[in-house]
Amino acid sequence: MKDLPPTGLRYPWAEPPEHGQAIEVAPGILWMRLPLPMKLDHVNVYALDDGDGWTVIDTGFASKKTKAIWQSLMDGPLGGKPITRVIVTHHHPDHVGLAGWLQSDFGADLITTRTAWLFARMLTLDVQDTPTEESLNFYRSAGMDPAMLAQRAKERPFNFGDIVAPMPLGYTRIKQGDTIRIGGRTWDIHIGNGHAPEHATFWSRDDNIVLSGDQILPSISPNIGVYATEPMADPIADWLEACERLRLLAQDDHLVLGGHKLPFTGLPTRMRQLIDNHHGALKRLIEYIDTPKAASECFAPLFKRTIGDGEYGLALVEAVAHLSHLYQEGRATRHKREDGAWVYQAAE
Ligand SMILES: [Zn+2]
Repeated sequence: MKDLPPTGLRYPWAEPPEHGQAIEVAPGILWMRLPLPMKLDHVNVYALDDGDGWTVIDTGFASKKTKAIWQSLMDGPLGGKPITRVIVTHHHPDHVGLAGWLQSDFGADLITTRTAWLFARMLTLDVQDTPTEESLNFYRSAGMDPAMLAQRAKERPFNFGDIVAPMPLGYTRIKQGDTIRIGGRTWDIHIGNGHAPEHATFWSRDDNIVLSGDQILPSISPNIGVYATEPMADPIADWLEACERLRLLAQDDHLVLGGHKLPFTGLPTRMRQLIDNHHGALKRLIEYIDTPKAASECFAPLFKRTIGDGEYGLALVEAVAHLSHLYQEGRATRHKREDGAWVYQAAE
């Protein structure tokens, strides 16, 4: 999603910690970084000091490299004190990837939402050597270029389990309205949606810290996509509902610790931008579909930049999400074109 420039935000730390290092961003709260082999090349993780051990927030991908960095963090900034709990904000691989490893190899307890746990465990067990017919049909219905579709049909698809460690049975559920004690603070749990279903965020009652995962990010708009798993999902509606609700909690002096980019303050401004970005995108899109168009033909108004091969998949699911939202709100109609693509047109 092409973003408004994030004006009005302040970044207390201009530079992130090096791999294997930590920055103490508040008493007893360490900020650390792990690499991702993608355009978005890092994920932030945090460790909160519980006295006799650490609670860590999110984990990075399961890879030899990330495990080695975790080991150097445990030996270094974490001072050899055990990781007793791992909290996963949402089920995406950059966040849940090593939760199972921290459980199995280090005896940590996993805490997350029920949907995040069920999704992550289901997807790690769901191994495909070739794309399913449902996935190919979904891509076709999104208007994927036929040559690309034919190529994908032959290839082993991305499997969640490739970058997420096996997840043993057992976790502790958190849900909307709960409180949790971490790092000497009591946190209110508020559930986000849209980027991932049942995404946990944590709001300290004792100081100004917010652990926001990917629900709230400073300088990039979280990806919002529709997948073959639930083709009629409306994550844009879910996103807007969650942001409008979380916006009411936001204070200017909140220090927001998110899953990517830098810690920041200026949360009320950022919530407004995150909401407005999607209203702006929907407005551009509805003007663009004055004639029928498939999702694959709607990148220009949504992203306002060229989409490279590495981003095509994310761009496509995000375009489907926006078009389907307009359709489900009655602002657009759709019909199946001869090539199998849903094409959407602004309602009269
Ligand atoms: Zn993420």
